Amino acid sequence: MGKRVIGIDIGGTKILGGIVEEDGTLLKVKRVDTQAQKGKETILANLFRLIDDLIAEGSIDGIGVGSAGRIDHKRGVVVYATDNLPGWTGLALKDVLEDRYGVEVAVDNDVNAAVLGEMWLGAGRNYRNILMMTIGTGVGGAVVADGKLIRGSSWSAGEIGHMILYPEGKQCNCGRKGCLEQYISGTALYKQYNELSKNLKVNNARQVFELYKQRDEIAAKVIGDFVRWLSISIMSIKNILDPEVFIIGGGVIESKELWWDDWKALIGSNVNVVSAELGNKATMFGAAQLVL
Ligand SMILES: [Zn+2]
Repeated sequence: MGKRVIGIDIGGTKILGGIVEEDGTLLKVKRVDTQAQKGKETILANLFRLIDDLIAEGSIDGIGVGSAGRIDHKRGVVVYATDNLPGWTGLALKDVLEDRYGVEVAVDNDVNAAVLGEMWLGAGRNYRNILMMTIGTGVGGAVVADGKLIRGSSWSAGEIGHMILYPEGKQCNCGRKGCLEQYISGTALYKQYNELSKNLKVNNARQVFELYKQRDEIAAKVIGDFVRWLSISIMSIKNILDPEVFIIGGGVIESKELWWDDWKALIGSNVNVVSAELGNKATMFGAAQLVL
C-alpha cells in the first residue's frame, strides 16, 4: 500500500485538513475555525482537534502543514506571522506536531505549499518555471525556478504583496508605504470603493464585483485600477524572473469572468497567465506533497 499523509492549510479564518494518498487521492477533508483572535493556544487546540479527527479515520505516515507567515522550512519554525495569527511567531510547529503524533512533519509557507499543490495536481502540472500569485485578503506569492521552489535566504522569497507599487503611497501593515497589497488585495478593493463612494459603503470585494456587474461607476473605476495595477506588477515580475507561467489564485479568481479578458489584453499575448485549478485545496495538497 502507498503512503497516506495529512495535508493541512492554516489560515487566519479556517484550518483545512485532508487525508491524501500518494497518487493524490483525497480520502477525507475536515475544516475547523482557526479562532485566531483567541491566541496561539486556541489555534493549536483547534489544529490538534482537526488532526485527531482525521487520524481517527485511519493511520497516517506523516503530516504536512502550509501556514500563513514566514516559515523556516528546514526547522519547521514560524519565523514571522502577522496579527492574523497572534502568538504564531517563533512557534516550532514541526517539533510540536512530531512530539505529539510521532510521525514525520514538514512545514512551509501556505503559498509555497499552494504552488507545490498546483504543480502536482493542478495548473502548474506542465511547467518548471512558475510564479504563483494569490490575491485574497492579502497578496501572496511563490517562485519556482527550474522545478525547484525558491524559499529565499531568510524564507521570504516571493513576497510580491510587498513590492512597492507607489513610492510614499498607502501605509502597509509591514511598516512600509505603497506596497502592492494595499492596492490590489480583496481588502484594498473594498476600501478603495469606500474611499470614493460618498453614500454606499461595502464590506468586501465580492460586493464591489457585484456592483461592477450592475454598471456602478465607482466600482468600474476601482476594478479598472485593479486591472491596471495587476498588469504593472506582472510586468515587473516578468522582467526579473521570466517564468513560463503566472498562476493566479485566491478569492478574486471567483469573479475573474468580470476582469480576466481586459487584464489579459493589457499584459499582451507574450505573457502566459492561467488561473489556479485547485481552489482552496491547493495548500492542503501541496502540504501533503511536502511529506510524501
Ligand atoms: Zn507591505
